[in-house]
Amino acid sequence: MATRINLGFLNGYAPSWAERIVQGSALVLGHPVDAVDLEMDLPRYYSADRGQYNATLILAGLLRHHSDPDSKIVGITRVDLFIPVLTFVFGQAQLDGPGALVSTHRLRSEYYGLPRDRERLVERTIKEVVHEVGHSFGLVHCPDYNCVMHAATYVEDVDLKSSRFCPSCEAQLQVDVPRPPQTA
Ligand SMILES: [Zn+2]
Ligand SMILES: [Zn+2]
Repeated sequence: MATRINLGFLNGYAPSWAERIVQGSALVLGHPVDAVDLEMDLPRYYSADRGQYNATLILAGLLRHHSDPDSKIVGITRVDLFIPVLTFVFGQAQLDGPGALVSTHRLRSEYYGLPRDRERLVERTIKEVVHEVGHSFGLVHCPDYNCVMHAATYVEDVDLKSSRFCPSCEAQLQVDVPRPPQTA
């Protein structure tokens, strides 16, 4: 059965390229993806010490509003996220759970002092959304450098991998949408 995946753009975050994230991630995931607007009390999750937002707590807050077992929710935000043991995270997900969270903050080229590059941002965001949704479907990090489930510590790692699952991860995903047989 198809699992509906809702991309929850948080607190008025409405990038003009949101639809491309919807379509790009749906293509790889093989499940229906929709964009929804979500309001959360983000200031509650802000750490003044770190100048960042606590990803674990935002994810927990996101899941409090999520009751449909046949769907998943992926919060998308532009605020900078951390978890206590790491300097920052691009995203977080519950392994084999209903929710995930992605931040575009450090996916923007401007963050690294480079010129704005929308294509790159769209591409990176699709990869991060697919990666976190992969975790929510129970996939763990993959040793294949080209696989979207390969761990990314830096944005360069995100650029190096593809937005697709390797055959082994793809098989574990158990996508039920009929696909043409693979040749070659
Ligand atoms: Zn991961
Ligand atoms: Zn893989």
